[in-house]
Amino acid sequence: MIRDLVQILGFNVDTFDFSSAVNYAVNNPGQIVTINPEMMICAQNNKDFADIINNADLIVPDGIGVELGLRILGHNVKRVAGIELGKALISEFTKRNKKIALVGAKPEVLELTFKNLKCEFPDIDIVYSHDGYFTNDDEILSKVQNASPDLVLVALGSPKQEFFINNLKSKLPNSTMIGLGGSFDVWAGVVDRAPEFYQKIGLEWLYRTIKEPKRFKRIFPTLPLFVFKVLKERYNN
Ligand code: UDP
Repeated sequence: MIRDLVQILGFNVDTFDFSSAVNYAVNNPGQIVTINPEMMICAQNNKDFADIINNADLIVPDGIGVELGLRILGHNVKRVAGIELGKALISEFTKRNKKIALVGAKPEVLELTFKNLKCEFPDIDIVYSHDGYFTNDDEILSKVQNASPDLVLVALGSPKQEFFINNLKSKLPNSTMIGLGGSFDVWAGVVDRAPEFYQKIGLEWLYRTIKEPKRFKRIFPTLPLFVFKVLKERYNN
């Protein structure tokens, strides 16, 4: 499979549909970034982060914001939800008897995530797990490396998880690694995912903001700023 990238605000985005993205990730090791508008706005002011995104081995448009932005620029690319991609990868790697590591979330959330994944995928082989509240990055990186997982799921929030995976890349060159934001909280059952209706119409972010009003501060002014920048890119060219 060959990657077909499009650009938005200086960032690469892969154009695979969901099943092709899963297929690509299963067959190609490396760093997967699930990109969203907040990450792009952040990375525009952080060159190291921008480089990590653009050097990633798969960059999926996570959410309606990126999908809309790409549409404004004339690209018809469907979103690939990171949380769903993460689950599909667990399923595929487990089917192939591959080893999995989990890093991130609060200790009690990680414990519940571990339990729920074991229940959903009885054959899952979790060779390493650690919560996301550590300061000794090097030690955790070495421990993940020593466990030699084939798939590493990292839920530290952005950009922490992308930097963590970037540091892991050279240690585990044959593994697939994905940053999953708050997905463990959903898998643990401590945070509800928006009902399917909201997901379908692309308003999952609105549901989450109503449920968790402190997210409002993160979305505004980022989202309008993102749309403004995309429109500027569209009409300047
Ligand atoms: N987190 C972590 N370590 C930290 C900061 C955050 O493990 O130092 C976890 C946090 O517990 C949550 C996730 O990272 O599970 C971030 O969730 P958030 O909702 O911020 O991510 P989003 O999905 O919005 O990217």
